Amino acid sequence: MKILLITEQREGKWNNTSFETLAAAQQIAKQTGGTLTGVVIGKGVAALANELAGFQLDEVLLVEHDLLEKYTPDGFTLALRQIVAAVKPDLVLLPHTYQVRDFAPKLAASLGKGMIGDCIGYRHENGKLIFVRQMFQGRTAADVVFEGDPPWIASFQAGAFRGDQAARRQGDSAPVKTPRVDLKAEQIRTTPLELFREAKQAVDLSQAPLLVAIGRGIKAPENIPLAEKLAKALGAELAASRPICDEGWLPMERQIGSSGQTVAPKLYLALGISGAIQHVVGMKGARTIVAVNKDQNAPIFEVADYGIVGDLFEIVPALTEEVEKSK
Ligand SMILES: Cc1cc2nc3c(=O)[nH]c(=O)nc-3n(C[C@H](O)[C@H](O)[C@H](O)COP(=O)(O)OP(=O)(O)OC[C@H]3O[C@@H](n4cnc5c(N)ncnc54)[C@H](O)[C@@H]3O)c2cc1C
Repeated sequence: MKILLITEQREGKWNNTSFETLAAAQQIAKQTGGTLTGVVIGKGVAALANELAGFQLDEVLLVEHDLLEKYTPDGFTLALRQIVAAVKPDLVLLPHTYQVRDFAPKLAASLGKGMIGDCIGYRHENGKLIFVRQMFQGRTAADVVFEGDPPWIASFQAGAFRGDQAARRQGDSAPVKTPRVDLKAEQIRTTPLELFREAKQAVDLSQAPLLVAIGRGIKAPENIPLAEKLAKALGAELAASRPICDEGWLPMERQIGSSGQTVAPKLYLALGISGAIQHVVGMKGARTIVAVNKDQNAPIFEVADYGIVGDLFEIVPALTEEVEKSK
């Protein structure tokens, strides 16, 4: 099996879910006895291609063009279609980022192919790859297989695999090739404006290693500084359940769950969150989940690695004090 992994960077910085999908791609390549080609796409991103070449893959393609400096769905689709035509992969893998959601279905459609998006895992059974997707907001999961001829295109949800388990090469690097892609300005029908820069103020919680999340148990906006103080002591970002964002107590971009962000931090500290399925679906990929809830039967404890049954208004200040002391 020939696998093509399309990584993601923005302004020369990795989207770390690229390494999670790299770990998945390496595993599939190993199980199927396949080859793995990594793609870095953009402009002025040679350093990232060289970094990627330090991982276990067969080659890296550095796909650069002036018209790829800023992301556009047309530019990325046209360029990647040429790469797919040249490499002829069986399987194209991508991390399921916002950007991938934007262009990958277009790429698949332009190749006349389907796409299995937002997979949480896969199995290799009897020589066949079976992908696993969540359905009905995470209440159930379904096995999905590709029909027809390759290339098959799939994306993996953040947290489905561990980026730190992507295997590195020992001492040497994979070759980095620079295939040419033909793009013309008139083929690109959108011009990215300042919107991406605005995102500087916004947070991409999917990239945050530590999250302190608050739910309705926080009771009132005046109490949010309590959680903020703990987040600051830990060096964590603040996140929330939907009611907190619906109330306007925190901006929507901090909402975790089926209608918010999907995150996979090292630590997710849930304060006064009941653990409704629509919330859990967005955070259960966290490596360690710590929940504080005064109701010992709260469903959040079913996914928590550590549970504290108690009043967050007593526990959070004590935790903050301990964290500050230990610095
Ligand atoms: C279509 C749809 C999409 C949705 N999308 C999302 C989504 O993306 N994200 C999301 O979060 N929700 C989403 N929801 C809402 C979801 O169903 C829940 O209503 C919501 O997650 C509950 O938020 P919560 O846990 O903060 O509040 P609650 O369910 O009210 O839980 C509050 C918890 O705080 C505890 N508590 C109270 N006081 C204290 C205290 N002093 N100390 C400790 N614990 C305390 C309580 O025991 C309780 O468990 C969606 C719902 C629908 C229908």
